[in-house]
Amino acid sequence: MAAAILDRLAEILPEDRVSVDPRTRQSNSEDYAWFSNVLEEDLGGCRADVVAWPTTAAELADVLAAAHGTRTPVTARGGGTGNYGQCVPVRGGLVVNLTRMNRVLELGDGLARVEAGVRFADLDRAANAVGQEIHIYPSTYLTATVCGFVAGGSGGIGSVAHGVIADGNVLAATVYPVRDTPKRRQLTGAELSSVIHAYGTTGVLADVTVPLARRIGWEQAVYSFPDIVACHAFALELMEDGTVPKRLLSSVEPGITRYFGRARLPFPAERTSAILMYGLGHRERVETLAGRQGGCLEFALPQDSRTRLSDFTWNHTTLWAKKADDSLTYLQTGWSVERFGEQVHAIQAEYGEDFAVHCEYFRADGSPFTAALPIVRYRGREHLDRMVEFVESVGVGVANPHRYVLEEGSKVENVEELLRAKRENDPAGLLNPGKFQAAFTAGEQTGHTFKPASMTLARQRVL
Ligand code: FAD
Repeated sequence: MAAAILDRLAEILPEDRVSVDPRTRQSNSEDYAWFSNVLEEDLGGCRADVVAWPTTAAELADVLAAAHGTRTPVTARGGGTGNYGQCVPVRGGLVVNLTRMNRVLELGDGLARVEAGVRFADLDRAANAVGQEIHIYPSTYLTATVCGFVAGGSGGIGSVAHGVIADGNVLAATVYPVRDTPKRRQLTGAELSSVIHAYGTTGVLADVTVPLARRIGWEQAVYSFPDIVACHAFALELMEDGTVPKRLLSSVEPGITRYFGRARLPFPAERTSAILMYGLGHRERVETLAGRQGGCLEFALPQDSRTRLSDFTWNHTTLWAKKADDSLTYLQTGWSVERFGEQVHAIQAEYGEDFAVHCEYFRADGSPFTAALPIVRYRGREHLDRMVEFVESVGVGVANPHRYVLEEGSKVENVEELLRAKRENDPAGLLNPGKFQAAFTAGEQTGHTFKPASMTLARQRVL
């Protein structure tokens, strides 16, 4: 089977855009699953058999047809910054690396259409040049691709104002199926939810259209508060204040900022930090709101600073902590805005310093939402599972980042819709197999061909 796909790829792509080099296969088979001690163990050793780099949508279509014709598992890959083994090819096969499909196709008033492999930093640069900026982007701004974010991400910088990906932050997408003669489909509106956060199991995105906003100047600043609960009260007030434009509103306990040491920024050692991006000229109002909760300005970056405070927010906090101490890991949680203090106290009474809180504030369906990516001590699988149970028992929702199967990692409310898209775009069950459990269950029940197809060279995992 390996020889068949190689022959087909040789007909489609030049030699230097197909690789079976072991190191290249390895680096194209990894993401940031190592943030989880559990996934690092579960996914270590999974490796693609071959990597291909299409540069155009036509080449992508041909590559997907080749995968279908040879029944080769195929996993789309952008920047490879996903957190839960999203683009780890658990059944080996072909990794389609999309980073060379990297053209900004259209820059209009209020929107940009970009190829799959355009990175956020490049899109931002292009948008800035015409007085606009991206609505939302992950903290992996330099490396992550726009389509990787749509297929694997959730929210990020800008979400405090514009919500998460599904809140209108994708306007259209071009999707290719894995079929002998792949016909592309244009998705808009509600149809887009069949590809958003589906881990590339329901089709491969060739391009997406995202909204842009008018560019304004942002101040990056850190305020400090007596504790995370006072900081939460400030965050809610700031969210409700319609006069201050906001791009980032994060809170980080000193138990986490201690790991930022190498950055040599003056984060406070004993107090909780609020890491903010707000409209230039609005500092006075922010200081007033902070003062009401015992907060004060610690530092603001100069306008020409190349430092991005977003590098200390979203899942970058885990990166800092993990690099400092490998026995640390994280959870992804959603909190009650009203019962936040009570929930924090209950969890920290149980776990103490093993549970340090970091929150991201954003709008979900228009309402304020408190998500947290706490840094927790890893003391084995059972301990971690018990911690998840305890956290849920006090009313905090957990999207478990220690699972690589879509439905186990997050609450998937549109399984039927994803299954329909899967039948349409991936009848042979080749797209990122092993990640969408319902597809295999449905395949077994209906005799559909959503069966694991594995190549011989890769380490195989059957769920
Ligand atoms: P990849 O990791 O390459 O892929 C992600 C998923 O999308 C995979 O399942 C892959 O198969 C699929 N995919 C990729 N391209 C396509 C395509 N063209 N068509 C179909 N499927 C495709 N996430 C957030 O949401 N917000 C954050 O702020 C954030 N911060 C992070 C910080 C750090 C330090 C790290 C390591 C991760 C963070 N993440 C965050 C997770 C990740 O960076 C984002 O989800 C990112 O947008 C993924 O983009 P990528 O190009 O790296 O995708």
